[in-house]
Amino acid sequence: MAIIGRGEFLDTVLVAGLGVSGLAVKDLLEKEGVKCETFDEKGKGDFSNPSQVDWENITTVVTSPGFAPTSKLMKAIEENHVPLMSEVEFAWKTRPRDKEGRSIPWIGVTGTNGKTTTVKMITKIFEECGICVAEGGNTGYPLTLACRKPGAQVVVVELSSSQLHFTHSLALEVAVWTNFAQDHLDWHRSMEEYRRDKAKVFENAKRAVIYNASDPVTAAAAKSANVNMGCIEVGFSLKKPAPAQVGIEDGWIFDNAFAYGRVCKEDALSGLKLAGSVPPHRLENALAACAATLAMGVKPEDVAMGLFKFRPEAHRLEDGPRVRKEGGEVEFIDDSKATNPASALAALKAFDGKGIIWIVGGEAKNCDMRPLLEKAYGKVKEAILIGKDREGFAKALLEAQIPFTEIKEEDGSSAMKKAVDEAYSAAEPGDIVLLAPACASRDQFSDMGERGDKFREFAKALKGELRA
Ligand code: ADP
Repeated sequence: MAIIGRGEFLDTVLVAGLGVSGLAVKDLLEKEGVKCETFDEKGKGDFSNPSQVDWENITTVVTSPGFAPTSKLMKAIEENHVPLMSEVEFAWKTRPRDKEGRSIPWIGVTGTNGKTTTVKMITKIFEECGICVAEGGNTGYPLTLACRKPGAQVVVVELSSSQLHFTHSLALEVAVWTNFAQDHLDWHRSMEEYRRDKAKVFENAKRAVIYNASDPVTAAAAKSANVNMGCIEVGFSLKKPAPAQVGIEDGWIFDNAFAYGRVCKEDALSGLKLAGSVPPHRLENALAACAATLAMGVKPEDVAMGLFKFRPEAHRLEDGPRVRKEGGEVEFIDDSKATNPASALAALKAFDGKGIIWIVGGEAKNCDMRPLLEKAYGKVKEAILIGKDREGFAKALLEAQIPFTEIKEEDGSSAMKKAVDEAYSAAEPGDIVLLAPACASRDQFSDMGERGDKFREFAKALKGELRA
């Protein structure tokens, strides 16, 4: 019995949000004989309105990140003074432990962008040394299940800011914060709150906190974090690494924190390359993964082999079809996962010097698009604007003097078909049609995966397609 006997799980627990993680929590509680009630706004649970809940009877709420601090449910929880935790906190508190109370180490990654990629790189590196990895969290697999994987020797977890918001006691062995930029300002009440939630990743860290040396927000948080005795700070940087940093020197990933020196040649990382070279943002993720695994005692040759074998996940600057046009070709690139301004900018930078027709727009999540568009000016031949938040976006594009075509179709599939057709007709041979929307997708698609799939499907259907 891992759970019974700890005060907060003795009586009725309310599980809020019956997605995959909520269901995993409910199943575990029920298996352990803990009384459990469920809340789901879509009617999948016992209650769908906070007024239906007998708050006197609830000892703890375990919530999914779907409920923002400003939601009706969160207000009711606050008014009724009921303790509240995320599924991450729940998984941490109930994690399997040995008789001495020890558990396997947890490595956690947060950041505005690069979380999934860095998590997958860390996993690949561990697997390269024959270590059994349990991976979960914001990648989509409930942590409550992941941390119970039989035979697992390490847990690698992706942490979003909304998961961290209601997480209190997590103590990671190694904590990574990739970068910080505007996102999710429809969930967090301010940039400062968003920053504070991200910074929680470093709290109580045991062995190392890994920060981005060119991102002052992550660097400051690493310095001021409340960590365990002996925990070190390691920076990663695209420049020559200072002491206690991992960076790039003479074309090599170079470790100046653990005294290994050269780890692997940047040019050998063929799986990370795009148009012949490794884009800087992918290299940053590789550096973060390198620092995290070296901190865990992995040998540099295993880090190198893991990174060498790594391939990016789908919809992250993924090659789409190439389509013939006027004696040349137009290449379609699917970066549907670029759901905020900073990731869209990374995509534009990855194709510097190319003619770009840019499919952009969706749910802007209260982010200010103007800094992105100022930087996009001169890089983009034409923008094709889709999505619900078109009005503000169109205004900002006008201000930035970027020519654009507005797609007024509301249905996602029709909007994407029209956008692809328009982009193709605007493109000249040698140009790139880049889907990097800088926005979330749920206004018109079930998720960013469907948005990317539609883009590729319609591009493939264009006459003259050369490569699927
Ligand atoms: P996350 O899990 O944080 O959303 P992903 O690895 O899934 O991160 O990548 C999301 C988007 O951000 C993709 O468009 C990807 O190309 C871009 N991206 C990945 N790493 C970085 C980075 N370090 N800086 C900026 N953009 C990045």
